[in-house]
Amino acid sequence: KTLLKNAETAMYRVKNDSRNGFHFVTPEMQLSASRNLQLENALRHALKRNELQLYYQPQISTSNGQIIGAEALLRWHHPELGMISPAEFIPIAESSGQIIEIGEWVLRTAIRQTKNWMDDGFTPMIIAVNLSVVQFRQKNLLTLITDILAEVQLPNEYLELELTEAVTMHDPESVINVMNTFHEQGIRMSIDDFGTGYSSLSYLKKFKVYKLKIDQSFIRDISNDPDDRAIVSAIIDMASNLGLQTIAEGVETAEQLAFLRLHGCHEVQGYYFSKPLPSVEFEQFRHNHDLT
Ligand code: C2E
Ligand code: CA
Ligand code: CA
Ligand code: CA
Repeated sequence: KTLLKNAETAMYRVKNDSRNGFHFVTPEMQLSASRNLQLENALRHALKRNELQLYYQPQISTSNGQIIGAEALLRWHHPELGMISPAEFIPIAESSGQIIEIGEWVLRTAIRQTKNWMDDGFTPMIIAVNLSVVQFRQKNLLTLITDILAEVQLPNEYLELELTEAVTMHDPESVINVMNTFHEQGIRMSIDDFGTGYSSLSYLKKFKVYKLKIDQSFIRDISNDPDDRAIVSAIIDMASNLGLQTIAEGVETAEQLAFLRLHGCHEVQGYYFSKPLPSVEFEQFRHNHDLT
């Protein structure tokens, strides 16, 4: 019966598609499917062949210009295909399940690096790590993370986990529970890409979230677009009334920075200060930044 239903659906789609003048499988679809498969296979060896690397992008306080944190961003140097964007390979790793192993490597590497910088005498700094929804649904995630923190001896309050707004809105009730357990352990959570995911404000009050990260799409045209200005200042006001911190991402100009500072956004991140950098260059950036 199910088979029949599937066949019917398939036939309907073929008919429907041909009516619109499309083939069922376009050459473009075939091409992207085979690239995805190629990447999925290559990703299996990426970790042990040391092809993955973390870059760090500074997060800067608008009140005193200090570096208060960094976001860890994943890079993949494929031997033949070159640099592959996380925007392309993270979704593949999520659907294949490889994100669990990769995500654990990201957490361990970022936490270790932060501890090493502290031991080397740099001012302690918060490390923000992106969490995939697949990792977030892992039953043992909290234990995994607290074990790494304990093993590396980095105090819990130096770790911040970024979860996209889309994820938090997909299943808010279970997100509330998981966020509570992280909160109890002193691990900070922030909502990434804020403003794009239609958060219900009543949930925002229930989330044990520390910071809202205003999506870069609202920052981009802030100098020209009055709507974006209205949205951004409304997010900052609302966050401040709820006792939440705010950070703006994708800050590229002095004008954008001035607007954000004027409206009381706490932190900024973007090319205006620095691109994401490999650890050695990030150290250099911190040296220079501390001197100016
Ligand atoms: P995201 O978390 O929203 O990260 C922000 C993206 O904006 C990064 O792209 C960053 O390099 C870029 N960016 C930073 N400043 C500026 C700026 O001033 N202007 C512009 N135009 N862009 C800026 P990236 O590194 O390519 O990462 C893309 C996405 O891949 C991330 O979006 C995140 O969703 C995902 N991602 C990256 N690393 C990881 C990871 O370790 N784990 C997981 N689960 N996802 C990751
Ligand atoms: Ca992020
Ligand atoms: Ca973001
Ligand atoms: Ca994003």
